[in-house]
Amino acid sequence: MEILQQLTQRQVESLRWIAARQSEGRGASLKEIAAGLRVKPPSALAHLGPLEDLGLIRRYRGKSHLTDKGQRTLQEYLRHHRVAETLFGSLGLGPKETCAAAHEIDLAISHRTIDQICEAQQHPKTCPHGAPILPCRTLSARGG
Ligand SMILES: [Zn+2]
Ligand SMILES: [Zn+2]
Repeated sequence: MEILQQLTQRQVESLRWIAARQSEGRGASLKEIAAGLRVKPPSALAHLGPLEDLGLIRRYRGKSHLTDKGQRTLQEYLRHHRVAETLFGSLGLGPKETCAAAHEIDLAISHRTIDQICEAQQHPKTCPHGAPILPCRTLSARGG
């Protein structure tokens, strides 16, 4: 099973909050992640355990950081989400609907199918909201 297929939307959301803090040059505290997810710290902690077990985050002195594998997985997720949005957009859904519809499938769908959808749509460069879509095959070290 591919990593994304083992994750929940809440776990991906946690990765995104951690990535945002990390881009500011620091890790994310449990309190910050919980606030981002709008849950209590113990619930946030329950999302972090599996992420750590999968090697996607590392916790150090109370702060969570994405590992290289975590960064790659988040990029993969964004590619899945945006390719799926583009697909729904081409079927006539509005930008807001494409996002909701993409969330229903973006974790379950395989990299291979996403690449096929990407190709069938002539490799779109952005999603309906203008966010960049990484090209096929730039994401090496698939598998895990
Ligand atoms: Zn979206
Ligand atoms: Zn989008």
